[in-house]
Amino acid sequence: MTPGTVYLVGAGPGDPGLLTVRAVELIAAADVVLYDRLIPPEALAHARADADVVYVGKEGEGPQFPQDDTHALLLAHARAGRTVVRLKGGDPFVFGRGGEEALVLADAGIPFEVVPGVTAGVAAPAYAGIPVTHREVASGVAFVTGHEDPAKPGSAIDWAALARFPGTLVFYMGVRTLPRIAERLIAEGRPAGQAVAVVERGTLPGQRTLLATLADVASRAEEERIRAPAITLVGDVARLREDLAWAEARPLHGRTVAVTRARAQASALAGRLRALGANVVEAPAIRVAALDTPLPPVRDYDLVCVTSPNGAELLLDRLRDARELAGVTVAAIGPGTARALRARGVEPDVVPDRAVAEGLVEALASVPVERALIARAAEGRDVLPDALRARGAHVDVVALYETVPEPLSDDARDAAAAADYLLFTSASSVRFYARAGGSLAGPRLVSIGPATSDALREHGAAPDLEADPHTPDGMIDTLIRDAR
Ligand code: SAH
Repeated sequence: MTPGTVYLVGAGPGDPGLLTVRAVELIAAADVVLYDRLIPPEALAHARADADVVYVGKEGEGPQFPQDDTHALLLAHARAGRTVVRLKGGDPFVFGRGGEEALVLADAGIPFEVVPGVTAGVAAPAYAGIPVTHREVASGVAFVTGHEDPAKPGSAIDWAALARFPGTLVFYMGVRTLPRIAERLIAEGRPAGQAVAVVERGTLPGQRTLLATLADVASRAEEERIRAPAITLVGDVARLREDLAWAEARPLHGRTVAVTRARAQASALAGRLRALGANVVEAPAIRVAALDTPLPPVRDYDLVCVTSPNGAELLLDRLRDARELAGVTVAAIGPGTARALRARGVEPDVVPDRAVAEGLVEALASVPVERALIARAAEGRDVLPDALRARGAHVDVVALYETVPEPLSDDARDAAAAADYLLFTSASSVRFYARAGGSLAGPRLVSIGPATSDALREHGAAPDLEADPHTPDGMIDTLIRDAR
């Protein structure tokens, strides 16, 4: 049998946005993914549903998977003809034992490729606002393992040479050895006043950076309870962080935000929150289920109202040809609904400023309506049909979907309860979240608009913040103002 190829792939330092395109392609194609600790879950989510995804991590505490067993697994899977992705944190050839694994494969005649990754020693400082080299400050950088205790005899590191190195020193691992490393560098002549940065959980939402000097870094790290994973950087470039600390300055840095929206819609909102530095917890207590209610011919109406992005998509799924809407006035509630229509080639004629049914009623005041079709969720409010009927129009309401409760996992429930903010984008998400045992006590409650706020009050919880405008973007703006 022809052996499968083994890909030694770097997954970057933690931020899933720092996965390479090549890494994602290979993960998505692999039969087997063997992964380490500190691999972003989002990276594994690219794997095929039928792929074997196996943890073989060994660093730190927790389960230890012996290196020889990893070698044996790599060989066995490859020899069985499988395509294997060996996924490692950061770069596979920087303190990742990737070199050893490549040698084992080369010896066994197994084809392999290496996909470099963004290494923590460069990425964590970058996210802390520290360029590892800088003109006239550091014209070189050394990557060093902090694993070796300089107090132990027989260290493979030449500490005197390292202390003299004319540039930045970047230590991987070694939170525990930090006091001895600092001491030894000073003893070998590195200035005690030189800047040191320790970046904990670099590029991740909880990133923390300590800026100290060689003399006090050990005690400061102890005080601040710095834990692995952390990168320690010694060099004057660390001071640049005073001007360049961009990631920690993002408006939602250090805040945990729980999103209760259906998973299919949550990702865009979650992505925007993450880009603002938030740690996002997804706790979907709701799911959208399409209904096969018969849709009357849309050309029989002079007005078609669409009240949500789901409604827009499901309506257009049902039309054989978008030209059936020719000559019909199309109204949409909310910019997201308008976007969903546009994405399918339909430009809405009416989009009210206020993204609620009342807003659409006002916006339609001067539009003549005889026959109206409202495409929406089964459990929508009746404000719009009632108002149009009151004007003498014939109104048909067609429920294209319903939202149904989703159970919350224990983890999601706990994580949401511990969040700083809990976001609700609809009244039904409030009801289903409560029904799934989600707690409304603790986090600040953020509602998208009046109907959602009412649902919160029905459950005995007043919203702390209500978005204005009543859109996901409005929610984000409200959050940013509150988090200041
Ligand atoms: N191959 C990896 C390094 C593996 S050694 C790479 O290229 O990045 C593991 C060490 O990397 C950790 O002990 C820590 O020092 C560092 N590290 C990994 N991820 C990190 C992160 N997100 N923030 C800070 N340090 C990290």
